[in-house]
Amino acid sequence: MQTIPFTRPYISGNEQEYIGRLFESGTFAGNGTFSRQAEDLLLKLTGARGVFLTSSGTAALELMCLVAGLNRGDEVILPSFTYPSTANAILRVGAVPVFVDIRRDTFNLDQDLIEKAISKNTKAVMPVHYAGVSCDMEFIRDLADKYHLLVLEDAAQAIDAYHYSSHLGTLGQMGALSFHETKNIHSGQGGALLINEEEMIHRAEIIFDHGTNRRQFLRGESDSYSWKDFGSSFSMSEITAAFLSAQLESVSSVTEERRNVWHLYHEAFSKYEEEGFLKRPDIPAYCNHNGHCYPLLFPSLEIRENMRHGLSEKGIMAHFHYVPLHSSSMGRRISRWGADLPNTDHVFRCLLRMPLYSGLDIDECLKCIEEVFSGRCFGRK
Ligand SMILES: *Cc1c(COP(=O)(O)O)cnc(C)c1O
Repeated sequence: MQTIPFTRPYISGNEQEYIGRLFESGTFAGNGTFSRQAEDLLLKLTGARGVFLTSSGTAALELMCLVAGLNRGDEVILPSFTYPSTANAILRVGAVPVFVDIRRDTFNLDQDLIEKAISKNTKAVMPVHYAGVSCDMEFIRDLADKYHLLVLEDAAQAIDAYHYSSHLGTLGQMGALSFHETKNIHSGQGGALLINEEEMIHRAEIIFDHGTNRRQFLRGESDSYSWKDFGSSFSMSEITAAFLSAQLESVSSVTEERRNVWHLYHEAFSKYEEEGFLKRPDIPAYCNHNGHCYPLLFPSLEIRENMRHGLSEKGIMAHFHYVPLHSSSMGRRISRWGADLPNTDHVFRCLLRMPLYSGLDIDECLKCIEEVFSGRCFGRK
């Protein structure tokens, strides 16, 4: 039996050659030619004002919270249906994550619940664009303007994904991208912080580079550099940047291929949705997604698990997703209020993600899925 994995890291074919060039140049630590190239490609693709390559998406989120100047006791509103990194970045600066529920169509933060969660301590909203599908950013930005909140986007899954024609991560003050190998394009581990406001770029340069003005120095704007403020080492190595450059060059073909698979799934599952057996994702008109993920919603945990096991017996690796943060042991320890998040709990129980990667044998995959779904033949070979 052929096994179809859930995901497979994309390889463009130029990674080895680009890394090989480093041995000629003798620069490995970052801030070199490939870092500049990857930054330029990202600036062009996203339209952000500034970009900082980081060692992970998590590091980009943490840098984002430091640059935002969040302090002890500040509250940040985010969904509970996300990876722990989103909330950890908030905790790292001493701020308080405030969880709100998600929508059942996109699995994104429910914008209508944000206002109720705002207190006098709220400083920011951190929308997560699940599966590269945009949150309702028009609504969120209007609300943020009204209450003078920052909009900090977790765009970890959102490379080459848009709200209308604006790249995700450029709709608020800052946005974090991830290049972990499970994302559409990757560098093994890696990330980037997108910054859309000039004065935040200056602050980020110092924090990014050990609290020094080394970046100014490298641009020839200063004769030397020294310790100016607190900071850390967030940068991506040149080896990683070489790998990432090769991947960034083919991002549009990766997106196209993934979107194509996404649409084949969507078509194939339409009849099951009509029967009421499952619910397909519902993409709002303002989203121009990147085919990062194809999630299905089943009516119950039992049916979801039956389907997951049935698929697994056929060699198809389908996965559920996040254990909600609000009800996790850490979430319960830090939560100010025992919020009831029924959609988050429901989606945790009923969501199943189909295999999706560049090079997936979608015909074979759909054939096996059809056998399981049409026969509902879990347990039967
Ligand atoms: C992948 C991911 C992260 C973490 O990114 P890393 O590069 O693995 O550190 C954070 N938030 C979301 C929503 C993610 O999908």
